[in-house]
Amino acid sequence: MAKLQIEQIPVLTDNYVYLLHDPESQATAVVDPAVAEPVQERLAKNGWRLTHILNTHHHNDHTGGNLALKQASGAKVIGARQDAQRIPGIDTEVTDGDSFLMGTAAAMVMSVPGHTLGHIAYWFPESQALFCGDTLFAMGCGRLFEGSAEQMWASLMKIRGLPDDTLVYCAHEYTQTNARFARMVERDNAELLARMADIDAKRSHGLPTVPSLLALERRTNPFLRADVESVKKGVGLPGADPVQVFGEIRRRKDAF
Ligand code: ZN
Ligand code: FE
Repeated sequence: MAKLQIEQIPVLTDNYVYLLHDPESQATAVVDPAVAEPVQERLAKNGWRLTHILNTHHHNDHTGGNLALKQASGAKVIGARQDAQRIPGIDTEVTDGDSFLMGTAAAMVMSVPGHTLGHIAYWFPESQALFCGDTLFAMGCGRLFEGSAEQMWASLMKIRGLPDDTLVYCAHEYTQTNARFARMVERDNAELLARMADIDAKRSHGLPTVPSLLALERRTNPFLRADVESVKKGVGLPGADPVQVFGEIRRRKDAF
């Protein structure tokens, strides 16, 4: 049972890169290194040696630091088999249902297509931590660049089924805008309004709103709630199929 130390590194405009350290084995992973330099700095500061590079998907703001970090450390790059051609320096190809050890910490791989077709998430059950890239955001979800609404909804439902106390470590700080959109979909959700106030307070102090608790996402994130009647009504589709409702929410958000 290895509980990871997790550090968050804000990079570029709004990306989050994560360092995962297993004190027992001294193994250290980076998740979605958009750039190498801030990661190197933090590793040096903590006296950690990088052993694993985990990518959720192929976009450059998630893989841009792969090669420099691999060259500097010899760390192994892990990514989706389906995206092997598009993940720089990939060593280990993984797919849905795979598990592996990061030091002594168990990682489970979930396939979550939608934002891209080969998108995966890494779940570390002993640390209650989910690294979901651009699939689920705090109060939002990723754009459908490659997949369909049906695929993304199925992916989000997989994530929704994880334990209540799961912490969602997404890859971008988009929460404030997401909250404003969410309020338009579900005006009478008191918990959503309360969360929005909390988010505004955090951001006004320059604090991150990520990670967030999955239980709270279930109650306040419209993209996890396309099967809830108040959300269906909120986008003018009472009684409609969740996939249709999800697609409509996603389209409205694209234009927001
Ligand atoms: Zn992306
Ligand atoms: Fe991204």
